[in-house]
Amino acid sequence: MSGDGQGGPRATGFFHEEPLSFEYPPAEQGGVALRPLDVPAVDPAAAMAGAALRDDGLAGLPNLSEFEAVRHFTRLSKLNVSIDAAMYPLGSCTMKYNPRINEVVAREPALLHAHPLLPDALVQGTLEAMHRLQALLCEITGLPAVTLQPAAGAQGELTGVLLIRARQAAQGERRAHILVPDSAHGTNPASAHIAGYSVREVKSGPDGCVDVADLARKMDADVAGLMLTNPNTLGIFERDIRRIADIVHGQGGYVYCDGANMNAQVGIARPGDYGMDVLHLNLHKTFSTPHGGGGPGAGPCLCTAELAPYLPVPRVEARGGQYVLDWDAPQSIGKVSTFFGNTGILVRALSYILALGGDGLKEMTQVAVLNANYLRLHLRDVLALATDAPTLHEVVFSDATLAQHGGITTLDLAKRLMDYGFHPPTTYFPLTVHGALMIEPTESEPKAELDRFVAAVKAILAEADRDPELVKTAPHLAPRRRLDELLAARNPVLRWTKEPE
Ligand SMILES: *Cc1c(COP(=O)(O)O)cnc(C)c1O
Repeated sequence: MSGDGQGGPRATGFFHEEPLSFEYPPAEQGGVALRPLDVPAVDPAAAMAGAALRDDGLAGLPNLSEFEAVRHFTRLSKLNVSIDAAMYPLGSCTMKYNPRINEVVAREPALLHAHPLLPDALVQGTLEAMHRLQALLCEITGLPAVTLQPAAGAQGELTGVLLIRARQAAQGERRAHILVPDSAHGTNPASAHIAGYSVREVKSGPDGCVDVADLARKMDADVAGLMLTNPNTLGIFERDIRRIADIVHGQGGYVYCDGANMNAQVGIARPGDYGMDVLHLNLHKTFSTPHGGGGPGAGPCLCTAELAPYLPVPRVEARGGQYVLDWDAPQSIGKVSTFFGNTGILVRALSYILALGGDGLKEMTQVAVLNANYLRLHLRDVLALATDAPTLHEVVFSDATLAQHGGITTLDLAKRLMDYGFHPPTTYFPLTVHGALMIEPTESEPKAELDRFVAAVKAILAEADRDPELVKTAPHLAPRRRLDELLAARNPVLRWTKEPE
């Protein structure tokens, strides 16, 4: 199967069915070839093994030959849409290329095979890598203290909110609320709830930024702080960021910055310099470690010196020429993850940062912003921009003009993009934009791929003018058409069971 050139739909690797391994007919040869027993079966272990292999509990397990198993997993891998196959413009998710040098470094045997319970003296290299990464993240964000433990962005958020809670508790305060703008990622209110707060929503203005007057009205002495995404989910740098921080600080609150969108700032602006008290990073977004499909992540949490005593333990410290895990922190909120986090992901991020260097990281940010604005410029005549404000790393369109094309919706456009070999952009988020289509190309994409994306969007709109059903029933080049997403969310079937015979 091959592409049919610029702008046309192309049959991709995901146009096929693959049954579960359980559903394969029993292999003629069987999956395992056991030699016939040529000694008397008197050894208890051998007798037990024999009994286990005859156990009816194993009936129904897949029985594939080696070759069938290889094909099965190879076909499954082709169903896996990934950044390695084509542009993956999922807004807010920063699906960038994962340089293979990261994989080489992470597979260094001394790092890969280090047991998490080894004494500090035997894992000096791993601890040094963590320590260097900590220092680099502090430099990048302008915040002096950090924990690498959280295993995802959302867990970094929870950690950060718990730091604020611990700080205020130490001052004898128990505040009830957290402010969250209406454009926030869903994990923000969820993290605030889990940390024991109720959420007060702050409105956005017509320009997509926080409505500062609404913030000032809602910020009072019963509010622990504000969770703010900057640049926000429209890709806009909050113009009044200093005033926002002053309003929150003025009432004894703290500003939590959701730094998942740090790809728009690295090397240019530092949250610690513009008044943010606590921040999480998504290493699996900004710093290129692979993600998607629930794979391992890392959401380091950084904070001011004031909040530092509450950071999780253990902490990686350098002391007398040695690296040590320090557990001595009486005010710590405790552990938030096993051992000291997802080490393999941390090592990949360190490799990425060192490979690019300061100038390279700055260029990464600049090209990410350039690419998003390139798409903005080339699509603004055919789709309706959510806001006129200049955007940074991503661009958001509304569905205001889509219905003119045969009545199609954001969902239809996104689904048809799959037939053109693109992972759909983020849809219907942020909630503040009607029928939002949120596109984040990242700096990885060459101009030719951006042009192919623009051509695909234009071709789909033309298709919708001619034959709306074609677009409304897309995707056509995938093993499934439209899934019932509501049913999937409400009634998830997470376990395979053999159908009753
Ligand atoms: C991705 C993202 C998160 C959550 O990160 P996870 O690692 O998926 O938990 C939080 N906020 C924003 C703005 C994000 O884009």
